[in-house]
Amino acid sequence: MNVELPCWPSGFIQVKDGFYAYIDPEGGWFKSNTGIIDAGDYTVLVDTQYNEPRMKNILRLIEEKGLPEPRIIINTHHHGDHVWANHAVHGAVVVSHMVTARLIEMSKDLEPSMFKAFFPELDFTGSRYTPPNIVYEGGVGKLNLPNGVKLSLVYMGPAHTPGDTMVVVEGEGIVYTGDLVFYKVTPFALDGYLKGWIDVVEKSLLEMDVEHYVPGHGPVTGKSGVEEMLGYLKLVYEIAIEAHKKGVKPLEAALDADLGKYSEWVDRERIVGNLYRAYMELEGEPPAKPVENLASIALDMISYRNRVSG
Ligand SMILES: [Zn+2]
Repeated sequence: MNVELPCWPSGFIQVKDGFYAYIDPEGGWFKSNTGIIDAGDYTVLVDTQYNEPRMKNILRLIEEKGLPEPRIIINTHHHGDHVWANHAVHGAVVVSHMVTARLIEMSKDLEPSMFKAFFPELDFTGSRYTPPNIVYEGGVGKLNLPNGVKLSLVYMGPAHTPGDTMVVVEGEGIVYTGDLVFYKVTPFALDGYLKGWIDVVEKSLLEMDVEHYVPGHGPVTGKSGVEEMLGYLKLVYEIAIEAHKKGVKPLEAALDADLGKYSEWVDRERIVGNLYRAYMELEGEPPAKPVENLASIALDMISYRNRVSG
C-alpha cells in the first residue's frame, strides 16, 4: 500500500533570525519537532527526540549551521518522543515543570522498546528517560539568556498531558508550544484533559500576541492553524457527548464519525483514544486521571486504523 506523506516545510528551518526548529517531515507517532534557540554563548533546545540517531542528526545540523553548542534543554512534557534523547545532548541541563519532572520520575523504569509491539517500524536505539536537573514550579518560569532573549516557561496543564509547558519568546511573536499544538497531525488527548486543552487553546494560545506557533508535531503555523486544531478538539467533544448519551462504545463512535477535513490529518486513529478520554470526563473522572486499560485502547486504535484504511 502506498502511503502518501504530507508535504510541509521540514528539516532545519529558521522561524526568525536566532529562532529555529527541526520540523519532522511526517509528524506522526514519535515523529516530533525540536525547538532551537540561539542564546549567544550556547543553544537552548525545546524538547529532544525519541531516539539517539534522530537527536544526533539534529545536533549535526545545529553544528553545520554554525550555532553554539546546546547546553539547556526544556522538556515541555514527559512523553518519550520529547525526552528520550535528553542524554544524547552531552552535558546539557534539563529544565521542566515540577509535574512533568514527577511524571518522568514515575516512568523512568519503563522500557521504551516495549512500544516496538505497536510500532515495529520504529527504532528505539538509545531511548531512555533522563530526569530533569532543574524544576520550576507554579505558573511561570523565566529564563533570561546571555544574548538578551527572554523566555517564559508557562505551565498550561493539564491539557495534552498533566504537565504541559509552552515556551514563549518574549517580544518576538514566537511560541514553542510542545504538544499543546498539533497541526496537520491528529492531536492526542488520552493522557490529558480534553476540556482543559480546549480552554487553553481558546483562552491562552489564541489570545496571545504571537505570529509563529512551533508545534510539537507538524509544520510551523499561525493562528489559523491553531484555530483549525481547536476545531478538531471541539469536534471530538461533540461526537463524545452524542455517542456517550446513546451508549455507543468509543471504537464504534469513532468508526461512525465524520471527521471531515481532519480525516486527512496524520494518525486519525487517535480519535479512538481521544473519545476514551472524553468519555472519562463526561463520567466525572478527574482531569488527566491515568487510564487503566491502555492496552485495550491501543488495540482499538489499531483496529480503527486497519478498518478505515481498508
Ligand atoms: Zn505528547
